[in-house]
Order: sequence, then C-alpha cells, then structure tokens
Amino acid sequence: MTPRTRKTWATRTDTGRVRTHNEDSILAHPPLFAVADGLGGHEAGEIASSIAIHTLRDHAPRHADAKALARAVRAANREVLRAAREGIGREGMGTTMTAALVEGTHIALAQVGDSRAYLLHGSELTRLTEDHSMVADLVRNGEITEEEAFRHPRRSIITRALGTDPNMVADALEVDASPGDRLLLCSDGLCGLVVDDQIARILGEYRDPTTVAAALIDAANEAGGHDNISVVVVDIESDPAGRVSDRSPSGAQAGGAGGSRARGSRTLGVVLGWLLIAAIVIGGIAYGTYRYARERAYLTVEDGYVTVYRGVPGSLAGISLSWLERTTDIPADELPTAEQSRLSDTITVGGIDAANRLIERYREQVSESQAPDGSIESVQ
Ligand code: MN
Repeated sequence: MTPRTRKTWATRTDTGRVRTHNEDSILAHPPLFAVADGLGGHEAGEIASSIAIHTLRDHAPRHADAKALARAVRAANREVLRAAREGIGREGMGTTMTAALVEGTHIALAQVGDSRAYLLHGSELTRLTEDHSMVADLVRNGEITEEEAFRHPRRSIITRALGTDPNMVADALEVDASPGDRLLLCSDGLCGLVVDDQIARILGEYRDPTTVAAALIDAANEAGGHDNISVVVVDIESDPAGRVSDRSPSGAQAGGAGGSRARGSRTLGVVLGWLLIAAIVIGGIAYGTYRYARERAYLTVEDGYVTVYRGVPGSLAGISLSWLERTTDIPADELPTAEQSRLSDTITVGGIDAANRLIERYREQVSESQAPDGSIESVQ
C-alpha cells in the first residue's frame, strides 16, 4: 500500500538563463493547480501573473467543473484589468493561465494563452490544451508544421491573454485520466524549448514528482533557458471519498474504498449539518424581521388620503415588509402643513394602536380646521 505521506505533486519555477527576473507565477493549492506566464516587462508581468493566480484561488470551484473554473479565470482577467486601471503594474500587462482542478481521476481545465497542460498515460504524452498563439493558428490552418512552429521567429506571439479584453473567455475542458497518470502544467519556457518526446521521457523517468520537476527545469536550461520556466507535476490517484460510487451500505471502517466511503459520508453529514444551521439562522433572522415588521406601522398618503400600513416602509433584500391596514377619509391637504410634510415622507410609529391614535388626532385637526368657516365644500 502506498504510504499516505508520499508527495503526489511538485512545483518548480526558474528564471532561466537569460532573463533577469521571473514573471511566471504558479499555484499549488490542491486540488487546484495553475501556471501563469506574465507579460509586460518591467516587473508588470509578474504582477499580472500574481494577481491572476490569487484571484483564481479565491474564485475557483471546489469540484472539477471546467465551466466554473473558466469563470474563475475570467474573474482573474477582470482583476488584472482593474489593477492596471488603478495604476498597479502597468497598462497592457497581461498573463497566460493554465488552471487544473484535479478531483480523483477527473480533471477540469481552463486555458488562456500558450502555457500548456499535458497528460502522461503509460509512456504516451497527450497535449490537453490548445495554445492561443499565432503559430498554433498557422499549424491548425495547415500552413506550417509543429516542427516549424517550434522554431518560428514569432512563436511567442499569443492571441489571447488575461489583461487585454474584458470579454475574454477561457477554454474549458474536462478529462478523465487513470490512476498512475501524470499531469503536467508548464509555461512556454519549458514546452517552447523542450520537445514533447523529451518531456514525455522525463515525466516517465522518475517516481518522485519533485525529481521530475527539477529534471524538467534542467532540460529547459540545457536547451538555452531563454525564458522563465515553470512546471507543476501532479500524480493522478484513484477517486477521493466523494466520488466513490455508493452501491453498498456505508459504515465499512477498515481499509481501502470502505474507509473512503465512510469518510465521504461523514463529510457530507458535516456539510448538511452546517447547511441546516445556516438555514435555521437565516430563517430565524427572516422570521424575526417579519415579527418585528408585523408589530410596526406607518402612515402615508395615498390618492390624497391618509393611509395606514402595518410593517415598515421600503423593502429588505427585495422583499416588501408592509401590508395595507386601512385607508381613511382624512384628506392630507387639510392637515397642518408640518403634518403634511411629515406624511409625505411616511410616519413610522410603534404599532397599529399608535397609528390609530394619530389618525384620531388628524380627524380632530381636520374638523377643527373646517369648523371656523363652516365650509362643507371639501366634503363633496
Ligand atoms: Mn514565457
């Protein structure tokens, strides 16, 4: 049995042999992993890639849902744009993003730019992502070959990045891998210098992902190290607790899948418990607010007459908390001016009894104001 302490992933980033600083950023926050290759120079690239990585981490889904992951990448795009607007980094800074959420053997990916995700299955290496680059377009159109793209003078021109277009979309895809497969995320400092065959060889050569990550960096540096090099290596294991199919009763305690299932249902129980508490708290607040509102009252003017409402004026979270109690035959414009202006704002009172007392006072004021000249015109 594999000891649980064995490390199942490793990351490594390196400035390379030419650049003075590293504008790549990487994220290993299992089950979330990402590589971002910053663009913009003068340290702006590393600001862009760092903002993108942090925003991704804050917005990423909990499960291997590629569309949700792509939405998190779009959030990262907006943050990079916002930072540039606010004078953080510089205008025009950008970054690529290759993000993976690994849930057992199920992998969700979101992709923008020319960093890549690869999957090694046995000795077979598959490129999971498509580059958003000029040379990739030329290859897709059959105008140049992969080999020509690899040496093309304009191979670093990318056609999609975070930080350029507020409406940018990320490619989203989900892949089912097998236990024992190895996932690689890398910036073009690796895959632009080291051919896929060699990447495949190195990925399959060492059992320890940390050794693999170091060997990949070494290979890129030996090939010239023209660019920053970042790699994330993740060993794919069997499905975690939550994804084990539940065909037999839970409660198995010893070993393997049984233990996982027990853990899974306990996690579910904890989640449901918290949801129940949240529902009680929210329900309690809502009921308390309702009770509070039911005991209050306010007066206002409708169609020229003083009107009494039970509840509170306005709405809370879009829900109205007032109920018409009664209309009256008291014309608002016959009340003293001060009272009229108070009413135009609504007069909140402690309850229906207080509202009724105020109505009686208004009735007296109206009849007093009519009494001196004995006018009955306003009644008609
Ligand atoms: Mn690069």
